Amino acid sequence: MRRGILGGTFDPVHNGHLRLAAAAMVALDLAGVWFLPAGQPWMRRGALLTSREERKKMTERAIADKPGFHLLTNELDRPGDTYTVDTLEELACDGWDADETYFILGADALARAHRWKNPRRILVLARLAVAPREGSEPDVSALEAAVPGATKRIEAVRMEPVAVSASALRARAAAGGSLRGSVPDAVADYVEETELYRRGIWVETKGVTE
Ligand code: ATP
Repeated sequence: MRRGILGGTFDPVHNGHLRLAAAAMVALDLAGVWFLPAGQPWMRRGALLTSREERKKMTERAIADKPGFHLLTNELDRPGDTYTVDTLEELACDGWDADETYFILGADALARAHRWKNPRRILVLARLAVAPREGSEPDVSALEAAVPGATKRIEAVRMEPVAVSASALRARAAAGGSLRGSVPDAVADYVEETELYRRGIWVETKGVTE
């Protein structure tokens, strides 16, 4: 059974994530896509992150009425920094087949993948499924240089660009704007009800929140 995993901070989960998951499902004939909210991603150490519980609630709401979309809480449940490779080891122990497990990501995430913990092992435990991100085509060169042969484990996913990013949405909400239309309605409702992004001052510098 072919399965997809879509990892992300999901702060908030948005229509770009949902379209990416749907595109991968069709392109790779996946039985389902498992959304994997990060616990404390080490690459964002020091950034002000919405709590695990809040990101879990938004993800649950986003996928509640979507057949084939599921939630994986492995990283939310693990204390400290969380690493993709550890999650893939856990899933392998649970019987997920390395050749039928696709870790789905956008081109921006692929460009950083060579800096992940143990990318070689990640590519043993799963294949990657990569989509363009807002016009940028996937570039495998950095990962291939770090892990020769990586390209053989990478599939391309075609999708129409969705010009939305979580950082832009946080900035919009912090300024009092609505997220409706860019996130599922249930997520927009949650952000409005909880005033999630209006509780602190969000300063965005090159995608990092300080
Ligand atoms: P931020 O703006 O805070 O960096 P983000 O919008 O990139 O957040 P993440 O949760 O970090 O959201 O992304 C999870 C995964 O989804 C990554 O692999 C990313 O490349 C992919 N992704 C996010 N938005 C899009 C989009 N609009 N189109 C294609 N892929 C996307």
